[in-house]
Parts: sequence; structure tokens; C-alpha cells
Amino acid sequence: MPETLGTMLSDILNSLVHKPVTTNYPAECCDEPIRTRGKVVYNAETCTGCRLCVRDCPANAIDIIILDRKEKRFVMHYHVDRCIFCGQCVESCRFDCITLTDTQWELASTSKNPFDLYYGNDEDVKKVLDKHTEIFDVGT
Ligand code: SF4
Ligand code: SF4
Repeated sequence: MPETLGTMLSDILNSLVHKPVTTNYPAECCDEPIRTRGKVVYNAETCTGCRLCVRDCPANAIDIIILDRKEKRFVMHYHVDRCIFCGQCVESCRFDCITLTDTQWELASTSKNPFDLYYGNDEDVKKVLDKHTEIFDVGT
């Protein structure tokens, strides 16, 4: 018993003179770890609409909505709340349209809106949202 008390006292004294190893997150933030996998981002300009990313996503987290294949008008519907940040979509895309950010990783929210994202040019995203329909163009 006196041994245990001695250890406790030593721990208490140590903690008084040493700074905590943890940070007071989220009041204080830290640099993100190297190779952090954050939110998926998409570049519609180089997309071909092949939908390989959609096929290979194990979490059913993305869809590519094809408005006009000839005009290269594509919109990605990204369900952030389903994404497991595996990076498979990045690997599958042969045109480097998809990346995982290493900065957008603080994704907690009390609202569902930030987890339901549409990427593409403003006009195309507006068209998709206005219609509330998803246009699939599989196999063409
Ligand atoms: S794999 Fe790449 S090119 Fe194909 S639909 Fe997905 S983002 Fe577009
Ligand atoms: S990172 Fe993985 S889970 Fe998230 S959208 Fe890409 S393939 Fe799907």
C-alpha cells in the first residue's frame, strides 16, 4: 500500500511539472498527420463519365450524374456520410478527376447538409438540384 501511494504521489508531482501530451482539441488544433485522408473532391472538367469510380466505391458513396456526355457536363453526388475514405475512387479514375484532400478532415456537424454534396459547374449543379432527379447514362 505505501508503495502504491508513493507511485501515485510521484505521478501527481510529475503531472504538475510536465505539460499534457494531448491538446485541448477543438479549442486548440494541431497539424494534420502526414497522408491524412479527408473529403473527396472532384474535377468535372476532366471527367469522361465512365463511372468506374461509382462502380468501384465500396460504400456506395458517389454517383456521377451525366447531363450531357458530348458536352462533358457531369455532376458528382457525394455522400460524405457514407464515405470510408479508402481512396479507391482516386485509384480507379484514370483521368485524375478525384482527389482526397488532406486538409478537409474536420467533418463533424449537427446538420445533415454538409454530408450531401454536389460537385460540378454551378449551372449543372443547379440543374440537378432543381430537377431533383438523377440521370443515369449507363453503357453509352
Ligand atoms: S472514374 Fe474518373 S473519369 Fe470516370 S466517371 Fe469517375 S471521375 Fe469521371
Ligand atoms: S474514398 Fe472510398 S468510400 Fe469514399 S467515395 Fe472514394 S471509393 Fe467511395
